[in-house]
Amino acid sequence: MPGTTATSAAREILTRLHDVMAARTNAQAKLNQVVNIIGEALSSEVCSIYLLRDGLLELYATRGLKQEAVHVTRLALGEGLVGHIAAEVKTLNLDEATSHPDFAYKPETGEDLFHSFAGVPIVRRERAVGVLAVQHAEPRRYDEVEIEALQTVAMVLAELIAGAGLIDEASPGTGGAREAGPVRLGGLKLVEGMGRGHVVFHQPRVHIEYTVAEDIEVERQRVYAAFRQMREQIERMTSQAEFGTAGEHQDVLETYKMFAYDEGWTRRINEAIDSGLTAEAAIERVQQRTRMRMREISDPLLADRMHDLEDLSNRLLRTVSGQLGTAAQMGLRQDSILVARNLGPAELLEYDRRRLKGVILEEGSLTAHVTIVARAMGVPVLGRVRDIRQMVQEGDLVLLDTAQGAVFIRPTATMEEAFDAKLTLGQKRRAEFAAMRDLPPVTLDGRRITLMVNAGLRDDVSALDVTGADGIGLFRTEFQFLVSATLPQRERQQRLYRDVLEAAGDRPVIFRTVDIGGDKTLPYMNHDAHQEENPAMGWRAIRLALDRDALMKAQARALLEAAAGRTLHVMFPMVSEPWEFDQAQALFETQRRWIADRNRPLPTAVQYGTMLEVPALAEMLDVLLPKLDFLSIGTNDLTQFLFAADRSHPKLAERFDWLSPAILRFVARVAETARAAGVPTAVCGEMGGRSLESMALIGLGIERLSITPAAIGPVKAMVRTLDAARLRADMARWLAEGAPDMRARLTAWADEQGVAIS
Ligand code: PEP
Ligand code: MG
Repeated sequence: MPGTTATSAAREILTRLHDVMAARTNAQAKLNQVVNIIGEALSSEVCSIYLLRDGLLELYATRGLKQEAVHVTRLALGEGLVGHIAAEVKTLNLDEATSHPDFAYKPETGEDLFHSFAGVPIVRRERAVGVLAVQHAEPRRYDEVEIEALQTVAMVLAELIAGAGLIDEASPGTGGAREAGPVRLGGLKLVEGMGRGHVVFHQPRVHIEYTVAEDIEVERQRVYAAFRQMREQIERMTSQAEFGTAGEHQDVLETYKMFAYDEGWTRRINEAIDSGLTAEAAIERVQQRTRMRMREISDPLLADRMHDLEDLSNRLLRTVSGQLGTAAQMGLRQDSILVARNLGPAELLEYDRRRLKGVILEEGSLTAHVTIVARAMGVPVLGRVRDIRQMVQEGDLVLLDTAQGAVFIRPTATMEEAFDAKLTLGQKRRAEFAAMRDLPPVTLDGRRITLMVNAGLRDDVSALDVTGADGIGLFRTEFQFLVSATLPQRERQQRLYRDVLEAAGDRPVIFRTVDIGGDKTLPYMNHDAHQEENPAMGWRAIRLALDRDALMKAQARALLEAAAGRTLHVMFPMVSEPWEFDQAQALFETQRRWIADRNRPLPTAVQYGTMLEVPALAEMLDVLLPKLDFLSIGTNDLTQFLFAADRSHPKLAERFDWLSPAILRFVARVAETARAAGVPTAVCGEMGGRSLESMALIGLGIERLSITPAAIGPVKAMVRTLDAARLRADMARWLAEGAPDMRARLTAWADEQGVAIS
């Protein structure tokens, strides 16, 4: 093709392919025509297509080689030049094929007549599923232009053969960073548990239906519009405080922005459109080319950037194809393991929890609300798994064992056996915990510890009966707001509260008024969060509720009416100064009078309490405590504010220890002051759900814990083997000394004393 450009070479072929693709012939007939068209266009004596079937590359169609070889010649991955291309997902361009070390002669093809050889991988989902090769009798190298054209055609072929079902989508191809074989990846345990399932990407890959353009100008306009839309989206995201809190998101967005406006990228997509591809295919083609180039460079920094570009390219693809939904909207298959860079709590709640067997995140942290929601849903989560999205494919089988901090991708039989054995063991332990259901959580020295559960979803109340817990110590009412597509009206709220109270029977339920804001933003509510730089410290929870009191009034009425005839426990989140508690309580009391004036049934009593999660409030306990019926320490927020460390920041996820002397001293002081004032005080943060941490809390004088249901068994086992008085004395001494190694001391102590820590 002398004198042509890559664009026009590809376009000439694609124009002819367009009619072939549209024809109502079968796939084999199409491939036979394709090899002829390419052979003619490149003046190549031979053009062949090999497809991966049952792990072997089978000659599927050829012009120039002997027809008897079709469906007969098969090469293993890595065997011969074709096998080499597929195994390496790499182009070969040779003027003398026989001189390549991987050259393998297949006599039935008659290819000994041909000297020059060029082949490109046919890539689908980053794996080679076949090879497109051209050969020539004369020894000559193919031009860059011709190679580019071949690559473009290979991309169109990939869609054609996948659409025709010619390749086994699950067949183990190979490719770059994506390993085909079993892999074990490590991560950070965010929610304990084991799960077996198939990979589902939160943001599914786009299915490209049409690859060859009908009208190039139309495709160009589509891509321009998608670019505009995507840039707007990114601008909006960058200015949203939701992202401003997490440092990594900020970096990602900056890079996004850089790429989104990158002229080189836009130009290359434009050129791909000029060559006759649809907007979708052009984006994918450019992405494939970039991937191939990047594979040659082993610079970790560049690899990171590559992921960002992948993200952006997928975003553009979703925008242009209108496939913007997440896997939740498409419906999950049975036994799914969700894979995402990160998720918001509301996004996770959209999934069917019965089908979701686990979540793997590239980011994530222990006290991010998505983690809390997953814990409430009983879904194991492994966070900080680097590059997981590059290492797996949709549908891959994975075994998740978060206690081990591991995920096994495409496991071997041995891995599966070990996993099953552990699963059985876990079931046995759970059965042991279940057998303790009716045993009281009393320490060896006779302290009755109150063990309650944290809840927020309707189904959570069943945890009370399963675990034998004393009640619900924290009902996060905002979960209902997060799962709803629209703001839940008072009647809907009331129905939920009544159902929860009925299911709880005579066990108390502490309803916390909505804690919206921070990382719990509601898509349907304009709460100006996008203008906040630090939403966790911004206009959230009680601050927002007092300013927008219509919301709080509706909730107060819903709660008061739902609790008619029994005691209502109400708790306010993020109270920073006593007057906020006063105002919130007054608002409830006004609603109570309003109901009374209408002679409607009321709760027999209302108990008011507050969370202590803003450190400033601890300085005002003398003013606050006399007003309270109960207090609950929220160690999730408290820790982030004490250490000035964002609770959802992945880089800080393991930096500060809940057993650090600063936290323990703080909690000890609050517990002591509240005890002296006679105000029952609980801890309801995630800290209390870990057996060593909850032991430490008891050692500080905390005798009420509200924890995740799965932790009731292990914590009860700990309580029943603990001498609380002895621990209190030892801890008081260590804390007075300012011992920096509290975790080590407590672990050794528990071991020595035979306390059951799991
Ligand atoms: C806390 O902050 O510790 C708490 C229990 O509340 P949330 O996690 O919902 O902010
Ligand atoms: Mg909180």
